[in-house]
Order: sequence, then structure tokens, then C-alpha cells
Amino acid sequence: MPDRPRFLADVMLGSLAKWLRIMGYDTLYFRLIDDNELVRIAKQENRMLLTRDMGISKSKRTGDCLLIRSQDTVEQIKEVFKAFGARYGKVISAQRCASCNGELLLVERSAIFAEVPEYVLWNAKAFVKCGDCGKVYWEGSHRVMIDAVIAAIDKDMEAR
Ligand SMILES: [Zn+2]
Repeated sequence: MPDRPRFLADVMLGSLAKWLRIMGYDTLYFRLIDDNELVRIAKQENRMLLTRDMGISKSKRTGDCLLIRSQDTVEQIKEVFKAFGARYGKVISAQRCASCNGELLLVERSAIFAEVPEYVLWNAKAFVKCGDCGKVYWEGSHRVMIDAVIAAIDKDMEAR
């Protein structure tokens, strides 16, 4: 989906960045970056800047920018969806690597047998591998946890 918003999260929002990636949103995050650089990248790459820093969000230097108010990651995700009207339904088909934001590709069991624990190898239904850093993910407890969080967010947003 080319129309999905792309994000850039500031240093305070590492956990939010991971979740947005898991949900398939292209989200950049740098552990060490100064404000000017952050603003520059957001503008240059046409990304929406997510920040906890009132100073950045108030300055007129930025393009699209959202001040995140909550310290709770799930609440932060809701703030993002509310502000940008982002859709988050079909998650698993367009995932991003939680570690590096690379694109995840479906891989055969035989291609990753050396990289995952044996019980996972035979019990998980599907595997994906990051095209950039090579990290392998599988459907299983990880997915169940993600589904639970997304269901909770869904329910909460519908109730409003
Ligand atoms: Zn990766």
C-alpha cells in the first residue's frame, strides 16, 4: 500500500517505532540523533515526525509532526492512529523488521533451519526473514501477543 504514512520516531519513542514496524509501517528510529538532523530527515524523506519533545513539535521548522503525549506504548499507538487515520487491519502481510525497519520476506523452512530453535522449526507455520539484517521471525507466541494488543486497540477505538 503506497499510501500508507511513513514515520520517523524520535529517541524517546523506540518502543512505539518497533510496534509501528510490526504493524507494517515504514518507521525510522535512531538511538542517537540530534533534533536538527531528525527534522532534516523527516522533511527530506517526507515522513511524519513523531516526537515527545514539545520544543520540536512547536517549532515551525518541521513539516508533518505529531506530539506524542502518553508514556504508554499502546496509548501512543492510539494517538498515532487517531491523528493520521492510519489503518492497521491487515497486519501480517506487510510487516517490517522490528529491529531495523527492513522488509520481511516469506521464507521456506529449509532456508532457515539453522537459525531457529528446533521446536520452533517444526511447530511454527510460517517464517519470515528480514531482507536487511537477516533476523528471522515466525508465527507463534510473537504473533499471538501482537494479535492481542491489536484487538485491544481496535476495541478501544471502536468504543469512542
Ligand atoms: Zn532487520
